[in-house]
Amino acid sequence: MQPKYRAARRLSNVYMIACHSCDYLHRIIPLADGGKACCARCGTVLYQQTHNSLNRVLALNLTALMLFIIANTYPFLTLKLNGIAEENLLISGVLTLYRMDMQGLAVLVFLTSIAFPLWLMVAMLYLLLPLRWGRIPPWRGLVYRMVQMLQPWSMLGVFMLAVLLAVVKLMDMATIVPGVALFSFMGVVLAVAAARSHLDHRLIWPHPAPPAITITGITARDCGLLHCHSCALLVPMTDAPAACPRCGHRLHLRQANMLARTWAWVVTALLLLIPANIYPIMTVVQWGQGEPNTIFSGVIHLIESGMWPLALIVFIASMVVPITKLLVLMGLLVSVQRHSPWRAHDRNRLYHITEAVGAWSMVDIFLIAMLAALVNLDALATVTPEFGASFFAMMVVATMFAAQSFDPRLIWDHA
Ligand SMILES: [Zn+2]
Ligand SMILES: [Zn+2]
Repeated sequence: MQPKYRAARRLSNVYMIACHSCDYLHRIIPLADGGKACCARCGTVLYQQTHNSLNRVLALNLTALMLFIIANTYPFLTLKLNGIAEENLLISGVLTLYRMDMQGLAVLVFLTSIAFPLWLMVAMLYLLLPLRWGRIPPWRGLVYRMVQMLQPWSMLGVFMLAVLLAVVKLMDMATIVPGVALFSFMGVVLAVAAARSHLDHRLIWPHPAPPAITITGITARDCGLLHCHSCALLVPMTDAPAACPRCGHRLHLRQANMLARTWAWVVTALLLLIPANIYPIMTVVQWGQGEPNTIFSGVIHLIESGMWPLALIVFIASMVVPITKLLVLMGLLVSVQRHSPWRAHDRNRLYHITEAVGAWSMVDIFLIAMLAALVNLDALATVTPEFGASFFAMMVVATMFAAQSFDPRLIWDHA
């Protein structure tokens, strides 16, 4: 082993960090407030320094939690039509789906819009409150791992977009009165986003000040180091345990069977794409008239009623995003299997974009849940979710699993 590799290995546990995306090894250096350390090879953010991060993130999470409780107890939206008023809570969409025999969809909406966001707020408070007084919370590794795992499945922003779309869609049909809960929910979305952007993960896994040495141009794998994907600890390969000694996350050099697993999810999503587009996803009945709509006929219907912006958002989120995402993932899988060194930077960026936008396809599912709960005035108007919506939701979940099971470090192994 070359001396620079040996030096890197000796310093690994506390002074070095490997890039999540490309495995490139970096020495940890102190940053000025507001500074970000980015990977020298692929540009991914490695860590950041925020002024007073602990107190800020704590305050933001506490605010978000209190607003979330208000958002779940007070009226969310009220629909008024011909003297009849239908008051709704945040959870009404879930309950309506459940009552309409769409239990799977109800559980998915409940988890992504209520349970996971709540768990993330409580878990962050659980991790940070003891640290505020210099104590380490019990089960720190387990709780942190679950935070990392569930983060992509908390879809507050997507849900908020669905609510706005529902309001626009119903505006010319009925009077919509926003409730206290709706404004609180907007506050939750903002507070959670701010807390995420201010969090310095080194609060939870602190590093001591580094010694002055320079190590460049090598990856963690070159030095015989394994990189924990949850807490970023580097573990020497020779005595590598099956799990990270710090947080308990399973360690692997490159995701075992990653390619086969990602292909399996991609093929599953492609197969689900067919029924999701053939079967109707919802039926809107107004004054006794209406018929089941597929995703595509729903978009056409919106265009015919002059709701261009709404049609565009639904079209992009429900058709363009999932199909493009699957095509990109297939392209990445083929390029990795062929050991292609071709434009690693662009492929890496493409992967991170597809991973980030995938959740926005859920907007149609949240929209259906909102409409079904709101428009429930038997004789005047009803919205019923249909079979196709379940296939569509399963397809979105499969594309998200596909993106998560892909290991972007493989792009760089042959770059
Ligand atoms: Zn990198
Ligand atoms: Zn770890």
